Amino acid sequence: MYKIITLRKGKDQSLRRFHPWVFSGAIVKPSNNITEGDIVKVISAEGEYLGIGHYQIGSIAVRILSFTETEIDDTFWRKRIGAALAMRHDIGIIRADNNMFRLIHGEGDQLPGLIVDIYGAVAVMQAHSVGMHLQRKEIAAALQELIPELQCIYYKSETTLPYKARLDEESGFLMGKPIDFVATENGLRFHIDWLKGQKTGFFLDQRDNRTLLEHYARNKKVLNMFCYTGGFSVYALRGKAIEVHSVDSSERAIDVTQRNVALNFTDAPHHKAYATDAFRYLAEMDNSYDLIILDPPAFAKHRDALHNALKGYTRLNAKAIQKIKPGGILFTFSCSQAVSKELFRLAVFTAAAQSKRFVRILHQLHQPADHPINIYHPEGEYLKGLVLQIE
Ligand code: SAH
Repeated sequence: MYKIITLRKGKDQSLRRFHPWVFSGAIVKPSNNITEGDIVKVISAEGEYLGIGHYQIGSIAVRILSFTETEIDDTFWRKRIGAALAMRHDIGIIRADNNMFRLIHGEGDQLPGLIVDIYGAVAVMQAHSVGMHLQRKEIAAALQELIPELQCIYYKSETTLPYKARLDEESGFLMGKPIDFVATENGLRFHIDWLKGQKTGFFLDQRDNRTLLEHYARNKKVLNMFCYTGGFSVYALRGKAIEVHSVDSSERAIDVTQRNVALNFTDAPHHKAYATDAFRYLAEMDNSYDLIILDPPAFAKHRDALHNALKGYTRLNAKAIQKIKPGGILFTFSCSQAVSKELFRLAVFTAAAQSKRFVRILHQLHQPADHPINIYHPEGEYLKGLVLQIE
């Protein structure tokens, strides 16, 4: 009953290696009765079944949901989302003192095009494909069934769906009503700006790296650059930093940072937050920081921007490495998928060499287990970081 997409001869290799994307160049032009978002069966030029997935107009023509023959029905959604939830239970991240985590990480959970983050009783769902958008209600029903404590499901896809698809209801409540929500990460509380904030409201992917930072913070003067809502700052304060400065260009983010500090510490006179540009702050600051965190937005959203992105990472890191106190620690990150860890390291290497200081790598950081990488889809690896010590 599903419509059929046929591959061109010899274009079946990547699907046979379980890569979940079918590029438009690999398919025979689909018949007119196939529309964007349809569930389609993909077959080889010889007529062999290869997988079932969502069809979309664009360079990725099909995102595979299953490589075995299956119906994409309520049972399917329940099974896939249930498996994702079981994995999060298994890795120990669902606890009273940690009720925020990523439940669905696209290809990493065999659900390409879908992101679901959980903040206590709130689920924030984001579709990156037309197919997931069209099936948002089925997905919401499965979420409700699997997580009965959910009070609200917010759908937030206005920035992630293709503009040309002219879809409606790209954001809104699929269940429940807006509640001002505070969620807990490793015992620290955060206001989650899930209605207007970036992504689904919080950068859950830095949880493990924030824990590491906490252990380095004692007696340090810390600069949290690109702080967003202050995640690293709150951990640094719990880790007994003597002073923490949070910087972000967004006034709104700085406002939430202040609220998050106040939520966790009745008195934190040694925290200050500044709404200003990172490059300007780094150029004007003195040499007194012992620990600097650089967690910029993705500099390369696409491959064509790679060269400039690498220059940006070098420029940013060079400033921090030049000015950090002797013996200082730098936590530096890139969340650009297009920048590999080798290229990122090269950009930081260039920055280090410019400073002429002795620099060593203490840790190599990455995304946490609730942002898993499908081994057949290396593109899913995006967050990388280095912890450096600078003599
Ligand atoms: N470290 C944060 C996430 C950072 S997201 C966390 O753990 O939650 C990147 C942040 O960089 C965003 O909040 C964005 O507002 C900020 N930003 C983007 N361009 C900037 C610039 N030129 N100067 C300062 N901040 C900037």
